[in-house]
Amino acid sequence: MLFEKIAVLTQDEQVQPELYVAVQGDSIAYVGRERPKGDFGRRYDGRGKLLMPGLVNAHSHAPMTLLRGYAEGLSLQAWLNERVFPFEARLTGQDVYFGSLLAYAEMLRFGVTASADMYFFGQDMAKAVLDSGMRANICLSVTCFDDRAFEELPVYEETLRLLESSQGAGNGRLRVDACLHAEYSSTPKVVAGVADFARRMGLRVHVHLSETRQEHEACKARWGLTPAAYLERQGLLENPGIAAHCVHCEEGDRQILAKHGVSAACNPVSNLKLASGILDAPAMLRAGVNLCLGTDGAASNNNLNLFEEMKDLALLSKGLLGDPCAVSAQQALRAATRGGALALGREDCGLIKAGLKADLAVLDAEKPWWSPRFDGPAQLCFGAQGSDVVLTMVDGRVLYEDGRWLTIDVEEARDQVQRRAERIAAELGA
Ligand SMILES: [Zn+2]
Repeated sequence: MLFEKIAVLTQDEQVQPELYVAVQGDSIAYVGRERPKGDFGRRYDGRGKLLMPGLVNAHSHAPMTLLRGYAEGLSLQAWLNERVFPFEARLTGQDVYFGSLLAYAEMLRFGVTASADMYFFGQDMAKAVLDSGMRANICLSVTCFDDRAFEELPVYEETLRLLESSQGAGNGRLRVDACLHAEYSSTPKVVAGVADFARRMGLRVHVHLSETRQEHEACKARWGLTPAAYLERQGLLENPGIAAHCVHCEEGDRQILAKHGVSAACNPVSNLKLASGILDAPAMLRAGVNLCLGTDGAASNNNLNLFEEMKDLALLSKGLLGDPCAVSAQQALRAATRGGALALGREDCGLIKAGLKADLAVLDAEKPWWSPRFDGPAQLCFGAQGSDVVLTMVDGRVLYEDGRWLTIDVEEARDQVQRRAERIAAELGA
């Protein structure tokens, strides 16, 4: 495919008009002012459009579309214990498959090309990733409230089987990461076990970290250490990966994350909705931590529109610190794209650059709210809507275009999710 005369969000987070971008196979073959020589197949008229790297949802629980709107107006602990956990206990693999498929349809609609998803029923999540054409790092949530070692938990065998069946599947689109749900939902033995497993297997780790003040302070009372320092002591952070939330991280915690190359995934909407707090993004950036963005699950958001997260990241930092320069549009754009790709260990994604994977989103830049356009990055960060996306490509393949999904039967996925969610709610008498 050859995008002709299209405005492009370039590697330095600037918008350049009228470029040519050629895609060959799964990769970007050319970016430049001159029409490239050669045949790239379909030609795409880029006038009035803007091309940007696909957004990366660096912390999500895709199948939680099934719980969208099911647990409203509750504190995190009540939200989890009274609504989410009982619902999740009744899920089947097929529920998870259709929930994931609906989530990926939504993400693709909003220009998201890659996602990091922590949940259960890995084989069904994997099937949804492969069927939809998405790029995703999936992991199986590890929790333990008794004296067992990691290797004694069913999730250990499940992770091994998932690695064997799915690691690198779909031309590398699908990856399996190691996982620890959180400090408060595990034991020192299990944390050390996951750490050792990830190290031996060469896996990245996805973990929830310092999401609420209560969790952060309880950890300090329990171990005399912050969650980040405790996980470091247990060896978990020797494996780079994603620490989700990091709302209550202290300066020492930021230094720990930076030292180990662990990315901080900010989830502004979820953190506001559950009143968990606001991450100090400028402090994270100053400490040298790779910042990325996530939607968290649909149950605490309630959509998977990363454009909202990007805008909120910048606005909340400005408001929190009383400084309109606290986080720039460029920094927020980077967190939503390249920052997320690096968090997933996808160095070959997240930029529009020859040689990198063709994970792209095209926006309609002729909507009324796009004129005039003095500042391209600010327009993208503060003015653009997720629904401005008119085309989403993953691995060189168009998966969404002009209201049509090319790999997902959205009506079917929506009906399945509706029926399955109603079934569980009825079983619970809700
Ligand atoms: Zn989460």
